[in-house]
Amino acid sequence: MKHFEYLEPGTVDEACGLLKQYAGNARVFAGGSSLTILLKQGFLQPDALINIKKIDELRRIEESGDDLVIGALVTHHDIETSSLLAERLPVLCELEHDVANIRVRNMATVGGNIASGEPLTDLPCVFITLDATVRIANTSGGRTLPLEEVFLDYYETQLGEDEVLTHVVIPPLPSHSAIDYVRFSSSSVVDKPCIGVAVRMSVNPDDGACGSVRIGLGCVAPTPMRARNAEAVLEGKPLTDENLQAAARAAAEECDPMDDLRGSERYKREMVAALVRRLAPRVYEKAKGQG
Ligand SMILES: Cc1cc2nc3c(=O)[nH]c(=O)nc-3n(C[C@H](O)[C@H](O)[C@H](O)COP(=O)(O)OP(=O)(O)OC[C@H]3O[C@@H](n4cnc5c(N)ncnc54)[C@H](O)[C@@H]3O)c2cc1C
Repeated sequence: MKHFEYLEPGTVDEACGLLKQYAGNARVFAGGSSLTILLKQGFLQPDALINIKKIDELRRIEESGDDLVIGALVTHHDIETSSLLAERLPVLCELEHDVANIRVRNMATVGGNIASGEPLTDLPCVFITLDATVRIANTSGGRTLPLEEVFLDYYETQLGEDEVLTHVVIPPLPSHSAIDYVRFSSSSVVDKPCIGVAVRMSVNPDDGACGSVRIGLGCVAPTPMRARNAEAVLEGKPLTDENLQAAARAAAEECDPMDDLRGSERYKREMVAALVRRLAPRVYEKAKGQG
């Protein structure tokens, strides 16, 4: 690896200041699970690593009013074992059982999971389905963005040279609604996901029709995405077999997977349809039982 400076700021402001000072030649270092590989392979050769792990305020999972706020340094393992999330959003704890292995889950962070722009991930797909936003700090005051807008392309995000992603903010679920997620790994259960599908749905208590619907797709496009055409097929309509088939087909058509070792494009589209068909009725039943 090329020689680099190793810096450990104690505050977010300090981290942003250092990033600005290095003008694009420094990298934030969080869990290091992804960055270390890229450094060792020589794909990245920064002049400095800005290790943010000493910034304690980024380690918390907490409530702010009705929102849930997850700090960028929260690890996969923290999510898996959080009693607050188990109570408010168990889908996040449950999905973490299948993420990587215990060593990665102990080190890798929520911020890194998003900021890496890595396409084969789990959390961003679910966060998007939950209408999450992210707080981003920089040297000119910071900004908040819908999470979906952070992602631009494979391994490419909106984050600027002097920016640190600090928090993910998740609003409460609408009333009479539920969410679930299913991931599929085609080569082995410990592999990264090959497809992730999240469905969030509310049910109109008067007539049993689907209310607001979110369908998030992960790993089947350059970025995690919402299947908006599929959502529109179901919104305001009863969950009949015909509507379900049409939504599954729409999701399969609007995603943009590529052929790779984990499966062909056609196979992935078929799997998206199958997983939407399987998950939506499950979420619908759960939502019917909610107040
Ligand atoms: C073997 C293995 C299996 C995996 N399996 C899965 C899986 O099943 N599901 C899944 O979702 N993920 C999986 N991952 C991905 C893993 O979760 C990510 O690598 C991880 O989340 C990155 O987090 P990190 O804290 O280690 O980031 P780092 O490696 O420290 O950083 C990654 C990138 O993000 C930037 N960065 C990090 N934090 C911030 C921040 N707060 N603000 C701005 N930029 C930041 C860094 O500069 C770097 O460019 C796997 C990874 C490995 C190595």
